[in-house]
Amino acid sequence: MADNIEKITRSEREWRAELTPDQYAVLRQAATERPFTGEYVHNKADGNYCCAGCGLPLFSSGTKFDSGSGWPSFWDVIDQDRVDLKVDKSHGTVRTEVVCSRCGGHLGHVFDDGPRDKTGQRYCINSVALSFETGSED
Ligand code: FE
Repeated sequence: MADNIEKITRSEREWRAELTPDQYAVLRQAATERPFTGEYVHNKADGNYCCAGCGLPLFSSGTKFDSGSGWPSFWDVIDQDRVDLKVDKSHGTVRTEVVCSRCGGHLGHVFDDGPRDKTGQRYCINSVALSFETGSED
């Protein structure tokens, strides 16, 4: 758990007011955007991918790779304490859900079929749950 990251809590009403409907559906209701539709699937610029809910930098462009899945994919987190991992038994399967450790927003899932020469992890993240900041790679 992320003891050193201060939590952000808002009511569902506040989140609805702050987020776009698509962001709300993913971040607060764990929806999944359709593959190959997200803004950052093919983004190759240098920078950081931050939580679209609270702005916490989560993933660096240096760990982004082309997984072919249709969602932005990373083999690592900027720092492990920036995300919380949860067991997700929805849709008749067991997956590991990835949520922002600061605002609790749903980001996507992590799988163990990532690049073997790196961490072996594949963080499969919805574009709409991210905001990209050019240049300031951690
Ligand atoms: Fe967040």
